[in-house]
Amino acid sequence: MIPLMKSLGLGLCHRRQSVFKVRINKQMCTLVQYQSSYIQKIRLIQSLKDNNNVPNEILQKARFALFFNFKPLVAEKQGGGYCIPWKRFNDISKLLRGLQLVLLTTDSCTANNTVNTPDEVSFAINIPSDKTLENEELTVFATEMRKAMFIMSQRDTDALVQGYGLLKWHSVNSCCPNCGTKTNSDVVGSKRKCEACTQVNYPKMAPIVITLVTDEDRCLVIRQPTFPRGMFSALAGFCEIGETLEMSTRREVAEEVGLIVQHIQYHQSQHWPFPNSGLMLGCYATIKPDTAHKISLDENELEDAKWLSRDEVKYILQSNTRSEPGKPSIWFPPSSAIAHHLIKNWAFDSKADASS
Ligand SMILES: [Zn+2]
Repeated sequence: MIPLMKSLGLGLCHRRQSVFKVRINKQMCTLVQYQSSYIQKIRLIQSLKDNNNVPNEILQKARFALFFNFKPLVAEKQGGGYCIPWKRFNDISKLLRGLQLVLLTTDSCTANNTVNTPDEVSFAINIPSDKTLENEELTVFATEMRKAMFIMSQRDTDALVQGYGLLKWHSVNSCCPNCGTKTNSDVVGSKRKCEACTQVNYPKMAPIVITLVTDEDRCLVIRQPTFPRGMFSALAGFCEIGETLEMSTRREVAEEVGLIVQHIQYHQSQHWPFPNSGLMLGCYATIKPDTAHKISLDENELEDAKWLSRDEVKYILQSNTRSEPGKPSIWFPPSSAIAHHLIKNWAFDSKADASS
């Protein structure tokens, strides 16, 4: 630590250093501490998985997010908003008997993590609907996972989405896909092993491409029949085995709107837990010039598709509401969805497309 701190200019502060330099040094000290605790946390998590054991001292310090019949328990925060009502081992030790435990890792990956220390890990459990909640748990409430994603902070959403995905995976993988015999989970819920053929199965998720197609100063938004009234979004579809991200993007755009894209640029990703775990890979794709008028809709998949200018997109984003009398008839997914960020980033950053 000390040589690293010196190399980063984190030695003892000289009196002549300006206040500005002192502030920079404090920020870098915080960064070094964060990086060190992050590596400790990641290695602890890996050791819990490898050793198939959670020592008692780790269990006593751990915190637990609860689901009730796959609905996360959430609590109102003082001053507004909602959060995970984390429980300690002693609060829920009776509940834990016989329930699947899953180890959460997303909270280790958050920068400026001041919530938990390197040896404090997080778990999630699902309480089946035939178990009665104790009085204390009734002060919080179970809500639909989709709703929780709209009302929680990003950090809490990340933890809940991971817990939900892992708990759901365990609930439908009690039999071996190879021979049909019963499987058993490891202690932290990171894999399941078959009792007969010993095949080990790991939680799976499906890659999904979500693409905002652009044509110079316009973007293409689409509407699926199942979307809420007035909502338009970016094109999305599952990747198929054998495809690259680029191949999937080209195929999806061609299938759904009959356009050929030429430049594809990855932008960002999001885990999506519905109906099963998926990794949404957000991209921009530009179409060949002068072909925008050739949209041919796959009517089995889509109800509508529209080209919108940046100004139109900005106006819709700023109206910030669903369709109401006097408001725009179009709205976009909320900020909990990657489509929102693809659209917003393109609208407010003229360099945000695949051609740049
Ligand atoms: Zn088997």
